[in-house]
Amino acid sequence: MRVRGATIALLSGMDRRAFVISIPPVLAAVACRRVDRAQNGAPAMSTHPSAVGGGPATPVTDARRARLIDDLVLDGTLKTPRVIAAMRAVPRHAFLPDTLASEAYADRALPIGHGQTISQPTVVAMMTEALELAPEHRVLEIGTGSGYQAAILSLLCREVFTIEIVAPLAEEASERLERLGYRNVRVRAGDGYGGWPDRAPFDRVVMTAAPPQIPQKLLDQLADPGVLVGPVGDPGWIQALVRVRKLAGKYREERLTSVRFVPMVPGP
Ligand code: SAH
Repeated sequence: MRVRGATIALLSGMDRRAFVISIPPVLAAVACRRVDRAQNGAPAMSTHPSAVGGGPATPVTDARRARLIDDLVLDGTLKTPRVIAAMRAVPRHAFLPDTLASEAYADRALPIGHGQTISQPTVVAMMTEALELAPEHRVLEIGTGSGYQAAILSLLCREVFTIEIVAPLAEEASERLERLGYRNVRVRAGDGYGGWPDRAPFDRVVMTAAPPQIPQKLLDQLADPGVLVGPVGDPGWIQALVRVRKLAGKYREERLTSVRFVPMVPGP
C-alpha cells in the first residue's frame, strides 16, 4: 500500500517525577483508552483544509468542535496557542464512520472498526501538548488508527510518519488523510515495535497504544535532543503516560498521569 506516514515511540526508565493529573481512571477509559490532560499549541498551520470528506463540515459540527476545544482550554488541558489552533482546525467527525459523526465532539473515545478506537479528545490534547512540538520537527507516531492524531500533528510539525498494525485501518487512514489534504503525513502498515528505521532519527515519537515497556528500537530512533510520549504498562489495566527526554545520550523519564490505552500488540 501507499506509504504516507510513520510512527514511533520508546522510552526507558530514568528518573521519575510524578506530576499528577487527576483524572479518574474510568474517564480515561475510552478512546483507544488513554486519558487526558494536556498543555500546549501554536499554529504552524499550513494550508490544510480543515473539513472535507468523511462527512461535510456544517455550522453545527463547527460549533460543537469550538465548544469542545473551549472546554479543553478552560480546564487547562490545552495551553499552547499552536496546539489549540490545530485542535480547532481538524474536523474529528471526518475521521469517524458516518453513523458516529454526530458524536464526534463529545469528549470520549469512539469505535473506528477492527476493534479499535479513535482517542478521547482530552487525551489527544494532553499528549500533543506533552510533545512540545516545533514546526521543524519530524514525528513518528505508533498506532495510526483513524489518522486523527496524525492530522493534528501534521499541522504542528514538518513531517509525520505513522505506523498502524491493522492493514485495513492503515489503508483507510492513508486515504482519509490524503482526501482531507494532510500532505505531510506518511502512513505505513506494519509493526510499530520496530519503528521506522529508514526515516530515523525522529525529533518526537508518540505511542498511541501501550507497550509493556518502551521499545528500545523506538528509543534508539529518537533524535538527540528528542522527546518520546506514550502510555507504558500492562495491557488491560491502567498504564503510566510517560514523557522521555533524550539529551546528550541520556534519558530522563517523567510520569505525567495514569491512562488506559489499548495494548501495542506484537507483530506476527
Ligand atoms: N492515534 C489513533 C488512535 C490509535 S488507537 C487515532 O488518532 O485515531 C491504537 C492503535 O494502535 C490501533 O489502531 C491499533 O491497531 C494500533 N496498534 C496496536 N499495536 C500496534 C503495533 N504494534 N504497531 C502499530 N500499531 C499498533
